[in-house]
Amino acid sequence: MRKLVLLLALICLAQIPLSLNAQPLVLSSHKAYDSYYDLYTRNPAVVVWYLDFEDFKGNMKPTTRRFKTDTQLPPPRVKDKDLKGSGYVRGHLCPAGDRDTDRGLLKETYLTSNMSPMTMVCNSGSWKTVEDSCRVLAKRHGKLIVAAGTIFLDDSLGVHKVNGISVPAAFFKIARCTTHPEHMWIWLVQNSWSETKPVRISVQCLQQVIQPREASISILKYHGLID
Ligand SMILES: [Zn+2]
Repeated sequence: MRKLVLLLALICLAQIPLSLNAQPLVLSSHKAYDSYYDLYTRNPAVVVWYLDFEDFKGNMKPTTRRFKTDTQLPPPRVKDKDLKGSGYVRGHLCPAGDRDTDRGLLKETYLTSNMSPMTMVCNSGSWKTVEDSCRVLAKRHGKLIVAAGTIFLDDSLGVHKVNGISVPAAFFKIARCTTHPEHMWIWLVQNSWSETKPVRISVQCLQQVIQPREASISILKYHGLID
């Protein structure tokens, strides 16, 4: 654990891409969330944030739906227009709806370090369902720690790319109650072209599906999302 903390501190301070099990990650830290960005897939690997009722009682709407290039990421950087015409929409990992009480925080959710290519049905269907569920849980339980991340097929299976950006096969989301750590919810959402329902999964299952990307597991452990 100490070694990991040191690595993460290095990433944070020097902004150097470090290869953690062939997963070159950079930490892009914001008030709204922390994004562990994967320079290989050009997607966030894991985005972590806290969520309580105060964070989403605002109903504030963004002035633009465009994503701003996150300059904390090293070049060549993904741009908003890179997904234009690809058939995929720009999906939030940390939802804008989780940060709608403060203009600055809301704007931060529209940074490219918080963006992944999503199908429209995933974005406005099962992924949105999970986002809504988390807010219901935060109302009920108080402060939650939440993480959302990307899941990719093995490279040998041919990962679909648009403009050099890998398209996740699925997304996961995990929420844990900060007062009762035994209260934990994990969902798996397919990035599919037809409607699917989010699937509730166990920690063991989550570890299995993200295992090829071991750094993602370490990040979840580091933030206390899993033990
Ligand atoms: Zn609870």
